Amino acid sequence: MKGLTVKQVDKPTYEIDEEILQQFNEQQNIFARVIYDNTAPFFHKYNYLNSEKIIEEKKQGYSRIELARTFASWTLYNHFSNAFSDQKLDNEITKLTEPQLSQYEIGDMVEFTKEVKDTALKFGASLVGICKLNRTWLYKYNRHGQPINISEDYSHAIVMIIEMNDDIFNSPHWSAMTSSGISYSKMAFVSASVAQFIRHLGYKAISAGNDTALSIPLAIDAGLGELGRNGILVTPELGSRVRICKVFTDIPLIVDKPVDFSLQEFCKKCKLCIDACEVSAISCDVEPSYEIKSVSNNQGVRRWVVDVEKCYMFWLENGGECSNCIAACPFSK
Ligand code: SF4
Ligand code: SF4
Repeated sequence: MKGLTVKQVDKPTYEIDEEILQQFNEQQNIFARVIYDNTAPFFHKYNYLNSEKIIEEKKQGYSRIELARTFASWTLYNHFSNAFSDQKLDNEITKLTEPQLSQYEIGDMVEFTKEVKDTALKFGASLVGICKLNRTWLYKYNRHGQPINISEDYSHAIVMIIEMNDDIFNSPHWSAMTSSGISYSKMAFVSASVAQFIRHLGYKAISAGNDTALSIPLAIDAGLGELGRNGILVTPELGSRVRICKVFTDIPLIVDKPVDFSLQEFCKKCKLCIDACEVSAISCDVEPSYEIKSVSNNQGVRRWVVDVEKCYMFWLENGGECSNCIAACPFSK
């Protein structure tokens, strides 16, 4: 957003209660619960199930072409196993995470960190930040219930943002879903390539998308934005029109400071995402709190909570996804 004052600060603007906060179990994530939680009303209800029926209604923005385009947009993401996605964790001690060449001797740390960030940008990241890896953000278990074991020498996270294209503003029409799929497929390429670059410098790297760790707090730690009322990262440059991927590494790097552009105060008054949500899934409270709505919300983080169960039920009704709260955010324009 133009004219915004972005301050670098010593501490991220989220507040946590260390007594309560624990490593999140990815099996509680709404998409994992669709697969595994037989007590949930959306158990085995996949968001595209209604799509053929919706096509027959011939509504604008819900065509067979849009749906085909959306499925196609996920191609790279869906077919890049063992380089991206949690499947690679099965190979943690194999060559996929291990250094590929002798170790590069790092001279000037400032120059070297810049080279790493430039590489991420060259491969297609829109923004990049670096933080120390706060291990609280690692998932305790992945979505299939397997423990996440990442050794202590993975000290840093390189966090990369992929910009979602303008189709997102068509939400909730299906063309907005293509924007999402394209971003995920780009994430697969960017994250896997950056990890491979690091391995060829003789260091370790694990590439990840939404898997392995919570992406939003890592992005905040890496100075890329703040947490919005909509429950998503809001960046000064692209608003919430972002997808996040990351690489964990043992390579020494200079970290970025978190940022504060007064989003927490702005969200108290703005509320545009509340109006845009067709199922009132976003908190209307003036102040953020530690309240949670379901097991899919991480406990111990003070924020405006999103009722992700209500949100997902709307996705089912819509025969796909919804990005209304991303499109409505004034920072996304
Ligand atoms: S994605 Fe759509 S349904 Fe879900 S919280 Fe955002 S606006 Fe509401
Ligand atoms: S739409 Fe407004 S209230 Fe919602 S996240 Fe964006 S700035 Fe905050």
